[in-house]
Amino acid sequence: MIEEKNSLAYAKSLDEKDALKSYRDRFFIPKINGEESVYFTGNSLGLQPKSVKDYIQNELDDWATFGVEGHFEAKKPWFAYHEFLTEKIAKIVGAKSSEVVVTHSLTTNLHLMMVSFYRPTAKRYKIICEEKAFPSDQYALESQVKFHGLNVKDAVIEVGPRSGEHTIRHEDIITAIEEAGDELAMVMIGGVNYYTGQLFDMKSITEKAHEVGANCGFDLAHAAGNVILKLHEWGVDFAAWCSYKYLNSSPGGVSGLFVHENHEFNEDLPRFAGWWGYDKETRFEMKPGFVPMKGAEGWQLSNAPVLGMAAHLASLDIFDEVGMDKLRAKSDQLTAYLEAVINDISERLNHLCEFEIITPKNPKERGAQLSILAHGKGKAMFDALTKQGVIADWREPNVIRIAPVPLYNSFEDIFRFGQYLEKAISE
Ligand SMILES: *Cc1c(COP(=O)(O)O)cnc(C)c1O
Repeated sequence: MIEEKNSLAYAKSLDEKDALKSYRDRFFIPKINGEESVYFTGNSLGLQPKSVKDYIQNELDDWATFGVEGHFEAKKPWFAYHEFLTEKIAKIVGAKSSEVVVTHSLTTNLHLMMVSFYRPTAKRYKIICEEKAFPSDQYALESQVKFHGLNVKDAVIEVGPRSGEHTIRHEDIITAIEEAGDELAMVMIGGVNYYTGQLFDMKSITEKAHEVGANCGFDLAHAAGNVILKLHEWGVDFAAWCSYKYLNSSPGGVSGLFVHENHEFNEDLPRFAGWWGYDKETRFEMKPGFVPMKGAEGWQLSNAPVLGMAAHLASLDIFDEVGMDKLRAKSDQLTAYLEAVINDISERLNHLCEFEIITPKNPKERGAQLSILAHGKGKAMFDALTKQGVIADWREPNVIRIAPVPLYNSFEDIFRFGQYLEKAISE
């Protein structure tokens, strides 16, 4: 990088040109030492839209006014509250409205999806996932396999990076699917890996899985609201995501799930059922014998947690206004600028610290995150960063995960981060 790009003036000039720059003002930016922090953990917990309070207050008011009648009398009747979110989330994940529903929490939804889409037989029982998947996903897979009385070591194939590499080669995933062949029941991978930020080619993974007769699903916790998704077009069988990372919808906020319309009318598909998945027209007749709603809604167990859903709606309204294409375009720019600043520091100050970015260099293989190995440095360096006002994520032994989020991060944030980083490695 030309060194002068790593300057406040240059960063400010990029912010001036940024079509989305006004959106930063619509979020609360946490402060450190009385100053706005450099908040780079939107991949862990997205910031609060200032509008959330009104959306939640609205439901509190209706609850106060109507009590139980709010299910039908509220401005947004709670009985069908999830429906206010459906179209907006469908756009974000590239689905038809009938293919998505906002409900439950992420790990719960993964289990519900696997009950339907992981149906091992004596011959076809194996699962392909990525090595070092997010722990909750590992436990979910492991317990699903055990639930079916199978051996985890035998059934779960983890595809990892080659030795000396940090990310997984696409061709290695494809080869693993081919090799598992007619023993493969399901592929379940994180669309964007939480640790390295690697974005997988979900389209061709899905195609290959189908070629050998397996189902294919994705955990989109780090992908939803971050990268362009086309779940319907890609033919993905199922997916689930959380709303509190890039989707800014409150701590532990409600999740979403996707079931491809190919499965909509497959009544053989077993599922765990609850009353909220029951045909809406006759739900309150409360008859025995489960009759599922068509589409993704048929996987709902429980009535909606309206307050959390209200926070989600506030955020989805912002996404709807901006659209994923514009977000992704700015995100590419932000991440590239961050990469350039880190490389600049790494080149000039490599006697102090060598940074190795383990996230793929190709913008098509990553989202809004860079994971950086700080060779020769430890937690003390990270703590020095935090003290100066950076909120980022540290993973032992020496990985910093940084996510510049296009809705509220600025190019100036990245410049400031670079300055703090220089200071921290010099100490
Ligand atoms: C964040 C995250 C989770 C968290 O699961 P919850 O059920 O929401 O607690 C699970 N899987 C992945 C890949 C994640 O990134």
